[in-house]
Amino acid sequence: MVTISRTTVAVVGGGPAGVVLGLLLARAGVAVRVVEKHDDFNRDFRGDTVHASTIRLLDELGLGDRFRALPQSRLDDFSLPGPDGSRTLLGDFSRLRPPYDHVAMVPQWDLLDMLVTAAREEPSFTISMGLAATGTIEENGVVTGVHLRPYHRDGEPEELRADVVIACDGRDSVLRAAAGLRSRSFPVPFDTWWFRLPREAGDAATALVPAFSGTDVVLSFPRPDYHQVAYFAPKGSDAALRAEGVSSFRERIARLRPDFADRVDAIGSMDDVHVLDVRMDRLTRWWRPGLLCIGDAAHAMSPAGGVGINLAVQDAVATAAILVPALRRGLGGAELNGALAAVQRRRTAPAVLIQTAQAMLHRVVFERAFAGELQAGPPKVPVLLAKYVPPVRGLYARGIAFGPLPEHAPTWARR
Ligand SMILES: Cc1cc2nc3c(=O)[nH]c(=O)nc-3n(C[C@H](O)[C@H](O)[C@H](O)COP(=O)(O)OP(=O)(O)OC[C@H]3O[C@@H](n4cnc5c(N)ncnc54)[C@H](O)[C@@H]3O)c2cc1C
Repeated sequence: MVTISRTTVAVVGGGPAGVVLGLLLARAGVAVRVVEKHDDFNRDFRGDTVHASTIRLLDELGLGDRFRALPQSRLDDFSLPGPDGSRTLLGDFSRLRPPYDHVAMVPQWDLLDMLVTAAREEPSFTISMGLAATGTIEENGVVTGVHLRPYHRDGEPEELRADVVIACDGRDSVLRAAAGLRSRSFPVPFDTWWFRLPREAGDAATALVPAFSGTDVVLSFPRPDYHQVAYFAPKGSDAALRAEGVSSFRERIARLRPDFADRVDAIGSMDDVHVLDVRMDRLTRWWRPGLLCIGDAAHAMSPAGGVGINLAVQDAVATAAILVPALRRGLGGAELNGALAAVQRRRTAPAVLIQTAQAMLHRVVFERAFAGELQAGPPKVPVLLAKYVPPVRGLYARGIAFGPLPEHAPTWARR
C-alpha cells in the first residue's frame, strides 16, 4: 500500500545542502521535510572542511557556540611541498580578519547532527532517515512530489506531495536524472582511493599538504581517532592497483608519507581501500517547474581545493533567501518557478568560477604530478607570486576561505 503525505517543501538528500536548507526554511516557519536515504550521517567519504564563510553563517544563525564545541582542528594555511622536502606557503588564512581566519576540519557527521538538532527545535521541520527518493511525481509537466522507498530495509512506498521539491541528492542525483535535466561534464584526470590509518598521540598538527612521490599523490586529514587518507591516481587505475595487491599499495603510501610507514599494515587488504569515482559536471538548467537542483546535484564538484561543501551550503542559503519570500506571498505556478530560476541566476557564477579553478588545479597539480613533473617543484608563477608578494597569500586564502559571492543568513533565520 502506498502512503500519501504532504509538505510545503520536500528536500531530498541530507548532505550539507539539504540540511542547511531544511534548517533555514524551518526557521522561516515553512513546512519542510528532509529525506535522507541513509540511517545516519556516519560515512567516511564525506569531506571535513568547514570554510570561513560557513563558520560566519553559523555565527549569524546563532549556532557558533554549538559549532565550536564540536571536535575540530584548525587549518591556518596551505602549502605545496618542494623537491627538497621544503614547503612553499601558498595561502595564509591568518591574513584574514578573526574569527574567520581559518578553515575548520570537523567530521561532517558531527556538523550535520548539530544542524539537524537545531532544525528539530523548529516545529515545521521534519527529517526522515533511511528513506530514498526513487523518482518524481509529475502532473501536466510540473513536479508535484517524489516517490519514496525505505533504502536499507523492506517497507511500504510513500508518495510525498509538495509545492516545491529541492534536489540535494548529490552527484548521483536520482531526481535530476528523473527530471531529465541535462548536464555538461568536464574532464577529471583522477579518482580517489580512501582508507583509514591509526592516529597516534605525537602526530603533527593539521596541515593539508599533499605529498608527491614519482607519479603518486596522497593527502591526509586527521579525524578524532584516525587519519582519513586520500590517495590520488589517474582515472581508470583501480583494476591495476588492486591487481598489484595490498603490499605494493602499502609501499606506495609509505614512500609518499614516511611518517606513516610504521602503520601502513593497518591496511589489511585492498577491501579496506575504497575507490571514489571523481566527477565534475554542471546542469545547463538547474530547475524545472516544481523542482530545483542545488549543491552537487546541480554541479558535481571535484575534491580539488576542498570547496564543494561550502558551495553547497551557500547554494542552500541563496535558495532559502529567494524561496521564503515567494512562499510567504503565496506565489505558485509561473511566479514560483521564477524564484527557482532566480536561484540558478544567483549561484551560477560562483559554481562556474570554482569549477574553472578546479579544472586549473587538475592541470597544474594533478596532471603534472601523474606525469612525474612535480618532482621538479611546484608550478612557478603562483608560487613566486605567493613568495615575494605577501598580500597574494592573503588573496589565495580569501579565495579558499570565502569563495566568490558568499551568502549571509537572511534576517528571519538569525537567532
Ligand atoms: C573524494 C571526494 C572528496 C571530497 N572532499 C571534500 C572536502 O574535503 N571538502 C569539500 O568542501 N568538498 C569535498 N568534496 C566535494 C563535496 O563532497 C561535495 O561538493 C559536497 O558534499 C556537496 O554537498 P551536497 O549536500 O550537495 O551533496 P552530498 O554531500 O553528496 O549529499 C547528498 C546527500 O543525499 C543523499 N542521497 C543521495 N541520493 C538520495 C536519494 N535518492 N534519496 C535520499 N537521499 C539521497 C546522500 O546519502 C547524501 O547524504 C569531495 C568530493 C569527493 C568526490
